[in-house]
Order: sequence, then C-alpha cells, then structure tokens
Amino acid sequence: MKGTGVSQGIGHGPAYILTASVPEPPAGQTYPGEAQEEKERALAALKQVAGALEARGDLAGGEAKEILQAQALMAEDPGLIVGVKSLIDGGLAAPRAVYEAFGKYREMLAGVGGYLGERVADLDDIRDRVIAHLTGQPLPGVPAAAAEPYVLIARDLAPADTALLSKDVVAAFVTEEGGPTSHTAILARSMGVPAVVACPGATTIPPGALVLVDGLSGEVRLEPSDDEVSGLVGAQAARQAAIAAVRGPGRTKDGHPVPLLANVGGPEDLDRALVNGAEGVGLYRTEFLFLDRAQAPALEEQEDAYRAVLDAFPGGKVVVRTLDAGADKPLAFLKASAPEPNPALGERGLRMFKLHPEVMAVQLAALAAAAQGSEAELHVMAPMVATAEEARWFAAACRTAGLASAGVMIEVPAAALRADSLAQVADFFSIGTNDLAQYTFAADRQVGALAGLQDPWQPALLDLIAATAGAASDNGRPCGVCGEAAADPLMACVLAGLGVTSLSMGATALPAVRAALAAHTLGECELAAQAARGQQTALHAKAAARSNLPGLSELGL
Ligand code: PEP
Ligand code: MG
Repeated sequence: MKGTGVSQGIGHGPAYILTASVPEPPAGQTYPGEAQEEKERALAALKQVAGALEARGDLAGGEAKEILQAQALMAEDPGLIVGVKSLIDGGLAAPRAVYEAFGKYREMLAGVGGYLGERVADLDDIRDRVIAHLTGQPLPGVPAAAAEPYVLIARDLAPADTALLSKDVVAAFVTEEGGPTSHTAILARSMGVPAVVACPGATTIPPGALVLVDGLSGEVRLEPSDDEVSGLVGAQAARQAAIAAVRGPGRTKDGHPVPLLANVGGPEDLDRALVNGAEGVGLYRTEFLFLDRAQAPALEEQEDAYRAVLDAFPGGKVVVRTLDAGADKPLAFLKASAPEPNPALGERGLRMFKLHPEVMAVQLAALAAAAQGSEAELHVMAPMVATAEEARWFAAACRTAGLASAGVMIEVPAAALRADSLAQVADFFSIGTNDLAQYTFAADRQVGALAGLQDPWQPALLDLIAATAGAASDNGRPCGVCGEAAADPLMACVLAGLGVTSLSMGATALPAVRAALAAHTLGECELAAQAARGQQTALHAKAAARSNLPGLSELGL
C-alpha cells in the first residue's frame, strides 16, 4: 500500500487496527424526563470530556498538551452547546443531540478543507467520547503497553489516542485520512515515530499481520519477508548512525559556520532542543503561550516564561518573536479593529501592536526584565513587517524598553524587495518562509489544495530569499531562516548557499540538517543554490539542487 510519508523512519510490528467503537445513537431518539435535566446531562458530559482531555494533555506535556487543550476548548464551544440545547428542546435525547450538533460543525470544517478540514478527526473523537460517557459505553482507545511495539492503524487518529503513547509502544502510525499538517503527522514527528497518512485501504489490514512502514517513501508493506525487513531496517540504522555521528555546531564541510537553532512554542520544547544539539533558539513563538487567554498575560508571568528559555541556553542566542496574533493564530486579547473578510491580509502580527501599543510595551518590558542578568544573548523580532517605517518604529520601541537587539521577520514580499532599507534600521533578519510563500504566491497556507504554490522550491521564493540575504550581508546584518523550509536537509544546504547565516527548525530536524551541511562545502552549496534558481519550476529547482549535492544520497537523505 502507498500513502504520504509524513514522519521519516522505518517501523515494523504487528498491526493494531483502531476501529470506531461508539455506534451512532438512533435517529429521532427521545428522552423520558424533563428537557432541563437532559440538557444538564449533556452539559455535564461535555464538561467531563473537556476536563479529561486537559488532564491527559497535562500528563503528556509538550506539543500534545497544546493540541489537547485546543480540543478541550472545542468540547465546550458556546456555539456547539447552543446547538445541543436547542436539539434537546426539539425533543432529541442528549446522545443524539450531541451527535447531530457535532455533525453540523463537522460538515463546516470538512467543507473548508486544508488545515481546518484535518481537525475533523479531533471533532469526531470528542463526539465519540461524549456519547460514550452519556451511554455508559467504554471509551475508544489504544493499548498503552504491549509486549512488542505495534503499528497503529486507523482511519484517522485523534490526539487523545496518541498523546500518551511512546516509541516503546508504537512502531509506526498509518492512517487512511489526514495530511501533512494533521495532528497524527505533527505528533508523530515530535515523537520521532515513522508515520504514513492518506493510505487508502489501510484499515483492511488484518489485525496482527506484520506490517513494515517506511515514513519517508510512504510505503506500507504487508507480511514482508525477513530480508525485506532487515534490508530496510539496516539501511535506516546506517542512515541514523551516519547522521548521529555528525556532532558539534552547524557548519559546512570546509568549516563555514551555519548556527543551528530550534523553533520553540513554550518551555516544554526545550528538552527536545537540547537533546538534538540546538545551539540556541531561532524562533520562540510567544503567542503559543497565550492562545487560550481572554486577557493579556501579566508582565511577571511573561518574564518567567521568557527567562525559562534564556536559562536553557547560557552563552547561546535566543531569538524571541513578539506576539504574532491574527489569521492562523488568533488571540482573544488582541483583536483587529473591525471584522476582517480576509484575516491573513488584515491587522495581524506587528500591525496588531499598532492598535494595542500597551500590550507591546508590556511584552518588551517583560523581555528586558528576563534578559537582566541572563547569560544568554536575547534578540527580539517582530512578525509581519512590510515596510522600513514599521521596522524603524519597532526598533525604536525595543531601544526604549532597553533591548539591545531588534530584528524583523521577512515574511512579506515588500519587505524582501526593500530588504536594503530595512537592513539599515533592523539589527537582523529572520525569513519566515511559511508566510513569505503564502504572500508571494497569494496561496493561503491553510489550504491543502494550494500546496504546490506553498512549495519553498518555487524559484520566485528562492529569488526573494537571495535578495534578502544579499541585502543583509551588504549591511553587515545576520539573516536566518526560521520557516519550515529550514528543516529540509537539501533546502538547508541551498539556503546556506543563498547566503543565509543561521537556520532554525523544529528540534527533531536538527541532526539530519547538521549532517547534510557537514557533507558539503560552502562552494557546493552556492553552486546548488545557483542551479536551483536557474530553473523554471519547483520540481526542476529541487532536482538541480540535489544533483549538485552528492553527499545527501550518501547519507540516505
Ligand atoms: C513563517 O511564517 O515562516 C514563520 C516561521 O512563522 P509562523 O509559521 O509562526 O507564521
Ligand atoms: Mg509567519
């Protein structure tokens, strides 16, 4: 079978098929007592499920915690509750009312598609948990311990299923649904477990059958021969050993330094960054700390959170991004001035601080306080900067707050085109390739159908990166990349060749990027970058880069 590989590695073991075990409540199901009692029963079940999801998140920590907290919020969504109550008023019993109210939301999300469409699995999971609670049925779930690691197969997986699993229990994940931004993919990558999604027919695999999963190619083999297993496992072990043998700071084969930094969303990501040899933090997404807040967090609370990250890297560099609110990262306490038909093009990122300068002042003061006496080097940057005036305004606010280094993210094409002017007022650049691709190609990053335009190998995107890095260098300013593109070992070499001075990524990607850089000279990276930019399509650009970087195949990358 073949699906999309979303978390690299080889996993094999007996198949464990997770089947939906909570049946649909009968259509038109009614209740014997009072409507009020039935509504209370439904609300209590929703509350219980939200609480249990939060508790599970606290136990799991890290990325799983954030995901489960978001799911808990969905369970208590006011709109959903109104829907459940009115269905009960209309005569439906609580289980059926819950089923139908969730159904409406489900349709809406599935209709939107992309990232939101992939949240359907989370919604189905909450629905099943609430119905199971109301009807006294056992909850859906997977074994948390096993004699030998199993390959977990499902139509789709909910974070609550996977959050408490570990590599010792699960050899690989395979799902029929889902995409590269589904939670199965995100959690599998952060756990380091191989995963294949969008694999048609996967749930027809007989339980217990031996399954071999290649999370790179997306291949799922049934009852493989011993030779097949040992061949693939051996190749994978050799690849991992070759990658793990490369240690120390990021640099090319001829010693050109390219510091390798981690993207973090909160203090719980720090262990993973340290284990994978991050030299510092290249992007601290501070808005992730406050996604669930109704009020702006107090200065002291912010100061503590920032200090925890600075303390993890004594002598290292920590780049903190100020709140990037709006569009895909809404914050309740930072609202646009009017409803926006197109939030990605609205008052988001730094623009939000123009509306709420008091929130910016508190964040900058908290950062300055955290930096006091710290052994780490604090750099602060603003997201979504479009013009040199905005960069100047932000840098001035940082200086007033007593911050030594104020940079800007380059995520808007206008900023890349005018990078020379911006470099004269900002201390450093960090290119956010995720948003830069979105705005360059007018292709919403949450719309899966536009993934081809979101591809960082698009030659136009490479041109903008080259222009930005060139302008930074002309002005003696560092220029990093902190978008997803930096996590691809092949692209990382090309970025170094384009003149990018540091790379920041999800920590589990660091070892492979370190090994890829160490296998090539800066000259080879520059030739690969030039060859890629000389192409007309993303596909050709990638192929041209690869043929100039032979060390990658030797590493099995
Ligand atoms: C980016 O846009 O590339 C980036 C790193 O920021 P975020 O993904 O948080 O928007
Ligand atoms: Mg961005």
